[in-house]
Amino acid sequence: KQTQRLDKILAHVGVGTRSELKRLTKEGAIYVNGVKVKDSGMQVNPDKDNITVNGEVVTYREFVYLMMNKPQGVVSATEDNRDRTVVDLLDEAYAPFEVFPVGRLDKDTEGFLLLTNDGKLAHNLLSPRKHVPKTYFAKVEWGVNESDREAFAQGVTLDDGYETLPGQLNILKSGNESEGIPSEIELTIMEGKFHQVKRMFQAVGKQVVYLKRISMGPLTLDANLALGEVRELHAEELLALQ
Ligand code: URA
Repeated sequence: KQTQRLDKILAHVGVGTRSELKRLTKEGAIYVNGVKVKDSGMQVNPDKDNITVNGEVVTYREFVYLMMNKPQGVVSATEDNRDRTVVDLLDEAYAPFEVFPVGRLDKDTEGFLLLTNDGKLAHNLLSPRKHVPKTYFAKVEWGVNESDREAFAQGVTLDDGYETLPGQLNILKSGNESEGIPSEIELTIMEGKFHQVKRMFQAVGKQVVYLKRISMGPLTLDANLALGEVRELHAEELLALQ
């Protein structure tokens, strides 16, 4: 897209709503290439045209890339009739960008979630053919052992008959039922079937009682992000995704 409506661009960068932009236009606060704007719906080329509002240069960007530490109790969607969504957790400055979650985490799953409005990037990350690895930390009832590790390394058969690709299971702590201690594991999978981690453990007769995603492709959850917090990807993280 070469040219776009000026008011749309300014709404995107958080200058204001369409009605606020009308007011700013009336006040003569907006200039394009040094010329006072009369109609905020005019077409401009954000890559070439110099836009200022109250004398400040507007740098336009089309895409945003956010990393969230998703808390439990919110759904990975943009809208929901009953529950709060991950998008509801975002600062309203992001509203004009219309971001969406890249893939889904269950309502009761925590951890790494990427949100963007870059459909192409999302499509690439989610493409089953790309086998983007995702690593999860889980607490599992009860003992998780070497034979589970071997089973996952082969791929297991889920309840609907689907045979998973090999998954890499790393047993951090082996729990046991008699003492009521769950196992703690990390599991890396290359696909993302519905409830996949929970169902892989079901396939070996065990139950996931806590699940958190810690990485996706080259990106790892920022340890400084509290549950529900969000930050923009750093330049090198974004580069690593391309
Ligand atoms: N696997 C699951 O079972 N749930 C998730 O949220 C993600 C992966």
